[in-house]
Amino acid sequence: MTMKPILIKNILQLTPQSQTVKVSGWVRTFRNNQFISLNDGSTIKNLQIVVDFQNFPEELLKKIHTGTSITVTGKLVPSLGKGQTHEVVAEALDIIGECSPEEYPLQPKKHSLEFLREIAHLRMRTTTFQSVFKVRSGLAFAIHQYFQQHGFVYIHSPIITASDAEGAGELFQVTTLNLNNIPKTETGEVDFSEDFFGKPANLTVSGQLEAELAAMAFSKVYTFGPTFRAENSNTPRHLAEFWMIEPEMAFYELPDNMDLAEDMLKYLIQYAFNNFPDELEFLQQRQSEEEKQKPQNERSSMPLLEKLNFCIKESFERLTYTQAIDILENSSYNKKKKFQFPVQWGMDLQTEHERYLVEKEFNKPVILTDYPKAIKAFYMRQNDDDKTVRAMDILFPGIGEIIGGSQREERLDKLEQRMKEMRISAKDMYWYLDTRRFGTVPHSGFGLGFERLVQFVTGMSNIRDVIPFPRTPKNCEF
Ligand code: ATP
Ligand code: MN
Repeated sequence: MTMKPILIKNILQLTPQSQTVKVSGWVRTFRNNQFISLNDGSTIKNLQIVVDFQNFPEELLKKIHTGTSITVTGKLVPSLGKGQTHEVVAEALDIIGECSPEEYPLQPKKHSLEFLREIAHLRMRTTTFQSVFKVRSGLAFAIHQYFQQHGFVYIHSPIITASDAEGAGELFQVTTLNLNNIPKTETGEVDFSEDFFGKPANLTVSGQLEAELAAMAFSKVYTFGPTFRAENSNTPRHLAEFWMIEPEMAFYELPDNMDLAEDMLKYLIQYAFNNFPDELEFLQQRQSEEEKQKPQNERSSMPLLEKLNFCIKESFERLTYTQAIDILENSSYNKKKKFQFPVQWGMDLQTEHERYLVEKEFNKPVILTDYPKAIKAFYMRQNDDDKTVRAMDILFPGIGEIIGGSQREERLDKLEQRMKEMRISAKDMYWYLDTRRFGTVPHSGFGLGFERLVQFVTGMSNIRDVIPFPRTPKNCEF
C-alpha cells in the first residue's frame, strides 16, 4: 500500500524521531538549493524540507520554485536551525506541477493588499489571506455553534424575493426578460407579467421579515446567508454581496436583544482567540506594520490581540441616540469643527461620529438605542414620545456599525399606521401583517454583518480583504 501524505499541521505535532513521512504542498521558498519551505494550507506554518543536492538530479532541482507543487518522502527530524522545530530530510521528491518564476505573480516578497486584490484567484496562497480565511471559516462555524447551543433554529430565508419594503434603491433586480426587447404594457410600462415570477423580483437585502415569520413558530431562530445591496459607494465597509446573521426572538424586548448581541459577539471573539492563536499573532504583526505607515493620530491605540481581549472583558456602553447627540454636540471635536458632517438631532450618524463615540469618548464598544423614527425602518417599535423607535446599533472600534437591530412593532394598528405614512403597501405585505393578526407577541432581532465581524477580529482595514471574492461597483472578477 502506498503511503498517504500527512497534513503539515499534523506533522508539526509529531515528536520527530527519524520516522518516515510523506507530505504534499506548494513551495513557498527554495533557499541555497537546499532548504524548501513547504505549505499545504493546513496551518499557516511552513514545513522545512532539507534537500541534499548530491542525492537529486540537477534537472529536478531546477524545477523547484515558489509556487511549484511537490510531494516529498523523507525522515522527520528535530530542526537545529532557527525558526522551526521540525524538518524533513528528503529521500524522494516528485514535482507535481511546475510554476514558472517568470510568470507567477506571487513572489516571496511583500506585495501590497491592493495588488493582491487584483489577483484574488491567487492571494489565498499568502500567509495573510490564509490567516484571514481560516479565521473567517472558524467564525462561521462558531456562529452556528453559538445559536444551536442556545436553542435557536436555523432558517434558510430566500435569496430571491418579491418584497421591496426594505432597501429601496439598493436592490439588484432578478429577471429573465430579454433586455434587448422588453415587453411593454399598453401604457408603456415594463410588463412584468411576462417575467419569470410574473412580477418584479430582486435579490434579498435582508432575511429579517421571513425570520420574523419563523420566530412566531419556533420562538428563537437565526438566518445566516448571503445578502445583496447595490450600494453605489466605494467604502472600506460596504460590499455588494455580503453575509449576514439575523437572529429573531419572540418574547424578547430591547434589553434582551442587547444582552444577546453582546454575549454573542464576546463568544465569537473568544472563539477566535482560543482557536486561531497563530493566525491572530501573525495578523497582529501584519497590522502593526501597516499602522506604522499611518500618520500618528490615525493609528489604532491597541495591538490586535489586546483590542480583542479588551472587547471581551469590558461591558459595552449603552446609551440613547439623544444622549449620544448631546455628547457629540458638546465635544471639543465639534467645537473645533473637526466633523465633516455637522451634528444635529435627527441626523443619521456618520462613521466619523460613531468612531468618535467608540474611540474617543468611551474607548469601548457602544450600543446606541432609541433613534429618531424618521431615519429607521417601518417595522421598529414606536416609543411613547412619538419621535423615536426601539432601535439599537452596536458600534465597534475601527469599524463603526457592526450590528443594526430593534424591537419590532408588534401592535397591528401602530404598524399599519406607520406603513401608511411610509407608503408601504399593506396589501402586498399581508403575510407580514398576519404575524400581528394571529397571536402577535413582543419580539426583537438584529443583523450582524459577517464581514465586519471578520474585519474586526482580523484587523483588516478593508472589507474587500475578508471575503474571498469581493463584489463592489464595477468589480465582479473571478
Ligand atoms: P451602514 O449604515 O453601515 O450602511 P446599514 O444601516 O445599512 O449599515 P443594516 O441594514 O442595519 O445596516 O444591516 C445590518 C448589518 O449588516 C450592519 O450593521 C452591517 O454590519 C452589515 N452591512 C450592511 N450593509 C453592508 C454592506 N453593504 N456590506 C457589508 N456589510 C453590511
Ligand atoms: Mn447601508
